[in-house]
Amino acid sequence: MQPPSGRLYLCARCRAQVFVCRQCDRGNRYCRDCAAHARRDSVREAGQRYQRSRRGRFAHAARARRYRVRRQFVTHHGSPDSPADGVLQPDRDDAVALANAAVRPAAPPQLNCRFCGTLLSPLDRAMTVREAFVQEQSLLLPLPANPFPVEEQVAVKVGKTPYVRFDLNDYTVPHTHVRRTLSVRADLNQVRVFDGAEMIASHRRSYDRAEQIEDPQHLKTLVEFKREARQHRGINSLTRAVPSCQLLLMRAAERGANIGGLTTALLRLLDRYGAVELQAAVEDALRAGSAHTNTVRAALERRRAARGAPPPVVINLPEHVRRKDAPVQPHRLDTYDQLTREEGDDVDHDQQ
Ligand SMILES: [Zn+2]
Ligand SMILES: [Zn+2]
Repeated sequence: MQPPSGRLYLCARCRAQVFVCRQCDRGNRYCRDCAAHARRDSVREAGQRYQRSRRGRFAHAARARRYRVRRQFVTHHGSPDSPADGVLQPDRDDAVALANAAVRPAAPPQLNCRFCGTLLSPLDRAMTVREAFVQEQSLLLPLPANPFPVEEQVAVKVGKTPYVRFDLNDYTVPHTHVRRTLSVRADLNQVRVFDGAEMIASHRRSYDRAEQIEDPQHLKTLVEFKREARQHRGINSLTRAVPSCQLLLMRAAERGANIGGLTTALLRLLDRYGAVELQAAVEDALRAGSAHTNTVRAALERRRAARGAPPPVVINLPEHVRRKDAPVQPHRLDTYDQLTREEGDDVDHDQQ
């Protein structure tokens, strides 16, 4: 039987050459003596690190306790002692190099696994790595025809703002997808956001920290949407206070006028003259067949002059005072009933 092949590595602590057989190879980095030392060092370091804070002290104590409990059930079997011939002393200085040269026989040395002592197949010093690769290449499996998708995929929750957080940075999504759970797929160069199977955003991946990566298109549509919303809000409060304005706005729209500007102007007149006066003036303007701010303003002025009242003064009140008269939509109160019902159930349980 052919002896098993082995691996030669340098101990990461004492730099000794170590041979390890295929069976014992666990990706070792230390020789057997240094492994225990390195382990002790790393445990001591971790202990110091954890004991620096109060929370760390508790965590360390809990871990040490678990370790002690575990040790009662585990028996460690050490490897049988092997002759030291698996280890060549590193050529640290000339004296050691000379000594090594003296004991090194002309024939290839017998190699034993440092851990279990098995005789290893002799090292083939004649062959280079490139030659070995050429020899073994035909035995390797070919790569698959279709590249395997290796994207990172995570589910993210979008809050009130149209951004998804991925890997310390924020990426924009269309504003129609706020307050939802979307999935982010990222490779090394690209971050893509999916709603189900539909891709809604794609960005270049940033490896920065706390950056906002924005798609100008997303922001543009959001700004337009907001502007529209503001206009609708203005129209709403105007038509609620002065119902005849709706007809006026419709006439103006037929004429192709700027509805936003007209709404703002009418709101200003509403502030100045009041709802009753504006209602009458708008009706006058409609009767005259001219859906224009100037007609309404002229009608208001005419009525004011007929009354003999002084010209109105703009009153600038703070926002919270102005909002006092704003209609408030009450939310549904069923939820409170549910609360009391549950409480009643609890009381029943207690009584039983
Ligand atoms: Zn070592
Ligand atoms: Zn071994």
